[in-house]
Parts: sequence; structure tokens; C-alpha cells
Amino acid sequence: MLVSHLQLNNGFSRACRNRQQDFCCLFLHDEPPSLSDISPRDKPWDKHRNNSDKVAKHYAGSDFHRYSERMTFCSELLDFTLKPIDDESYALKLSSARFCRVRHCPVCQWKRSLVWKAKAYKVLPQIVEKYPKHRWLFVTLTQRNCKITELRETIKLMNDAFKRMTKLEDFPAIGWLKSVEVTRGKDGSAHPHFHCLLMVPSSYFGGNYLKQAEWVAMWRKCLRLDYDPILDVQAIKKGSQPMQLVSELLKYCTKESDMTVDREWLLELTRQMHKLRAIATGGVLKEYLKALEDEPEDLIHVDGEEKEAIATEEDKTHLFFG
Ligand SMILES: [Zn+2]
Repeated sequence: MLVSHLQLNNGFSRACRNRQQDFCCLFLHDEPPSLSDISPRDKPWDKHRNNSDKVAKHYAGSDFHRYSERMTFCSELLDFTLKPIDDESYALKLSSARFCRVRHCPVCQWKRSLVWKAKAYKVLPQIVEKYPKHRWLFVTLTQRNCKITELRETIKLMNDAFKRMTKLEDFPAIGWLKSVEVTRGKDGSAHPHFHCLLMVPSSYFGGNYLKQAEWVAMWRKCLRLDYDPILDVQAIKKGSQPMQLVSELLKYCTKESDMTVDREWLLELTRQMHKLRAIATGGVLKEYLKALEDEPEDLIHVDGEEKEAIATEEDKTHLFFG
């Protein structure tokens, strides 16, 4: 193998530097190549990096100017190692990079989600093996949109309500994973909601089954609302694994298009979400999935097998509910 290492400048308008003569062929373009030119499977880098530039621009000159500075250098230099695929071809594997770790940086948010997904893919089969008869529900809990300036308080109330719900006798799950998503309403409001994976005993589908209306009533009571909130409950088919829900559960806290469209909304979102935890686990799932509650230290290495699983799973457009 002639070439073992390549360093790419990931600021796409800047010149790419090659550390090995053997790579000159890659740089005979009129324009510096984007990462996806060289490694098509890394196309998402381009998209997230472009959105990071937009978010950094919004932060520039604001209370969060220092985030803007950090984001400018986020993942600017990526070190890749060449891994042989067969006798004639190689694939690029990220070996080192510097990430800014700003919470709302699209690149870091994406990498964090990949690491979380990889961890979940590794652990969920162990849980299924230990609890083979248990079933899985995917529940989305919402309430009416709030002002973006009231987001923090609203999420806190929702967290308290969720805690109350898990303590109710009627609450059927013995383990859960909950993630927070915030979307932007067209009128500039905020729509915080929870995506939850719940593990229930098989008896849930016998005498302990809760109808949709009963779930709504329970959530309404716990959240102390004077209206019926929108709530969605889906059961995963018997015998199907919960892994199919990972992409929906651990995707992102706020989608990139919502963060780039409105500067003032992003700045307030940043203030409101400061140090609020995005993922919580409980019950018997806590011991398996607790690591997902923390910011991953390593944003670079996603093990091969899990990464393949993520790639396959991201291609899926259908979830298999029964
Ligand atoms: Zn970053």
C-alpha cells in the first residue's frame, strides 16, 4: 500500500493539502474537491459543515460570539486513514479531527447522534436477549407550542410530568428511553416534544392494555393541562426488535433547517437549552443505556459494525409497527 494517510482541509473553499505525493491525482481539479468528491459515503459532512457555517454566522456578534469562533475551526482538518477494501481499492476512515462541541453545531450534533446510535445498536440486542418476551412501544408526547422564551420552563414542566407518569400504577413500562426534540413553529414559537421508547411486559397486550384515549388522559393529568394534548403511541410488532426506532429516538435535538432560518430564534434556543439534558433513561433500561445521557467523549470513532448498521437503518423509510 503506497498511501496510508491523508489530511483534508474541510473548509471547502480553502485549498486542500495533501501530505503524500501519491495523492496528487486527487487534486487535479480546477476547484478544491469537497470531501464527498473523494469519499462519496462521507457526503453528509458537506451538508452539516455548510449548516455549521450558517449557524456560526448567526452566533457572530451575539452573546455567543465565542461559539462562532469555535465553530469556525470545527472539523476544519480531518485526518483520514486509508483502509483497503480489496486488492485495488481503498476507503477513507476518519482517524482524527478537532470538534468544537458547541451544542447546536450541526457537525457536532450529527456526530454525537451517530455515537449515541452506535451505542444503542450495541446494547439493545443484549436487552432483547435478557427480556425476550417483553414488547416495545414508541410514544411521542407533546403539548401546545410555547413562546421560545418559555421553552426552558416548559421542558422542565414536561420532565416533571413524565416523572410523575412513570410513577403511576397504570404506567405500563418497566424501562424507558426519552429524548427531547424542539421544532420551530411557523410563527416563531417552539414545539418541545418527547420521543420515548418504552419496554412493557407482554401482559400489556392482555389485560393491561391502554387505549390511545387513556394515554392522552394520563399525560394530560400528569402535565396538569386543561386540554387534551396530542400524543402518539405505536407498538412494535411482536418479535420485532426496538433497533428500528433508534434513528428516530437519537437523531437530533433541533433540525438544522430550524437553526439556520431565524437568527433570533436560534439565539434564544441556545439560551433556553443551556445545559438541559437531551436524553434520559429509566427503569430497567437505565443500567444498559445510561451512557447515552452524557456527552460522548469520542466523536470520531464509530465502530465498523455499528456504523454499517446505522447506514443501513438510515436508508429505511418504513418503521414496522404492528
Ligand atoms: Zn462543531
